[in-house]
Amino acid sequence: MDYDAGEGWHSPRIVPYGPLSLDPSCAVLHYAQEIFEGLKAFRRPDGNIALFRPRDNFERFNRSAARMCMPELDVDFVLKALKTLIHLESDWVPKSLGTSLYIRPTMIATDPYLGVHPSSKYLFYIILSPVGAYYKNGFSPVKIYISDGYVRSAPGGTGEAKTGGNYAASLKASMEAAALGFDQVLWLDAVERKYVEEVGSMNICFLYDGKVVTSPLKGTILDGITRRSILALVKELGLQVEERALSVDEILEGAGNGRLKEAFGTGTAAVVSPVGQFTYRDRTVTLGDGRMGELTGRLYDMLTGIQYGKLPDQHGWVEMI
Ligand code: PMP
Repeated sequence: MDYDAGEGWHSPRIVPYGPLSLDPSCAVLHYAQEIFEGLKAFRRPDGNIALFRPRDNFERFNRSAARMCMPELDVDFVLKALKTLIHLESDWVPKSLGTSLYIRPTMIATDPYLGVHPSSKYLFYIILSPVGAYYKNGFSPVKIYISDGYVRSAPGGTGEAKTGGNYAASLKASMEAAALGFDQVLWLDAVERKYVEEVGSMNICFLYDGKVVTSPLKGTILDGITRRSILALVKELGLQVEERALSVDEILEGAGNGRLKEAFGTGTAAVVSPVGQFTYRDRTVTLGDGRMGELTGRLYDMLTGIQYGKLPDQHGWVEMI
């Protein structure tokens, strides 16, 4: 659908996937006024299709919109539209376990002008794509490179918004880490370059001193919906959650002295991904025996159990199509 200042959102439509036609000077191409979301639909054993916390995604989308000076969406309207779309394309929701339909709502600024000011025209669209398992090597723990040469976001910046520029800024570090054989980059805070923020496309949790420690939401990391869900499940298991920034030293020393037992990333695409190794400058530490930890596996089973309908949804996270 389209947005024009004065008219608001209009012309909702469903069209076959294909190229967009944009003016070469349109605002998104020059000034990166763009936001997006990522969520999934799951096929259940009875054939029904479930969305996981879609309202949270659209509410985050609206917070990203506010940060990027873009118009908000009517959450009820887009959710209804999304359900209609998935209902029409229900064959696209794959059937085998671990697979899902990835949903990518996106908004771009389409005003044709050269000059830095918010656009008066926008396009909102949703892409659907069936996806398989996130990691090609199966469930083996990932190797993470701790970056202190680049930063992804800084206080007062756009780190909390799901906007393309954050990802563009992170490409160089990810490429360099991949060339060295690492799966992901762990970002540190921009001020002291000492405290954990998040990983490429995941939030990160540590089982440290028997508590689950994860970075606080202070505007520089994404308020992950999987993070929120996992923290709720951790509390359900009777474990304590500590929202504080772990330092690099705590990772390096904790892996050696046994205070750091497990680490795992959380994200819509990555689900719950075990971390086996951290490398910082020329030091590499391995967690436990390098295999997936017990808590990590348990949380993965709990979360996917709720998503695929094998466990009861006691939190009201699931919306059926
Ligand atoms: N951090 C970043 C930078 C991400 O791109 C993602 C993926 N959306 C996450 C964290 C995890 O967020 P969520 O659990 O909502 O997918």
